Amino acid sequence: MIIYPRIYMESVKEITIEFLKNNNIKALILDVDNTILDFDKNMPEGIKEWCEHLKDQGIKFCILSNSNKEEKVKMVAKILNLPYFNLATKPFKRGFKKAINLLEEKEENIAAVGDQIFTDVIGANRCKLYSILVKPIAEKDLLVTKIKRPIENVIIKRYLRKRGK
Ligand SMILES: [Mg+2]
Repeated sequence: MIIYPRIYMESVKEITIEFLKNNNIKALILDVDNTILDFDKNMPEGIKEWCEHLKDQGIKFCILSNSNKEEKVKMVAKILNLPYFNLATKPFKRGFKKAINLLEEKEENIAAVGDQIFTDVIGANRCKLYSILVKPIAEKDLLVTKIKRPIENVIIKRYLRKRGK
C-alpha cells in the first residue's frame, strides 16, 4: 500500500549499518523537520554521531526538505556535511529524482526517511524507494502538519496492527 511505510521506527538513530546492509540500502534521503531537527531548530543528541558513523561505513546521504526556509536546511546540511535540496515538493517525484541522481544509486538501494506519511512515505513509495517512517521529534508542529497528524495516527495504528498479524 502506498500509504504504508516499509518500516516504522522510533528515531533515525535506530537505522543501523546492519539494518541497511541486510536490506541492501546504500544511500539515505533524509527529511529535516521533526526527523533530524525539532520545532525550535535543535538537533537531538546523537544524530550527528549517527550520521558520521554511517558515512564512515560508506552510506551516502542527501537531505530533502519541503521547507521554504533555506537558511535552516542549509545550516543542518552544514552541521552534518551533507548535500541538500529544499522546496522539495514531496510527495511529488521531482525532488526525490534530484536526490536519486545526486546519490548515483538505484532506487532499490535507496531509503527515504521522514516523519510524515503524506509527504515522505507516499513520495518514497511512488519513487520505489525503501520508505522509513520515524516518530516525529517535536510535539509542537506547524498548523498544517497538526491537521494531518490524527489521520496519520490512524494509518500508523492500522499499519502496526496489520504488521502484527
Ligand atoms: Mg518532516
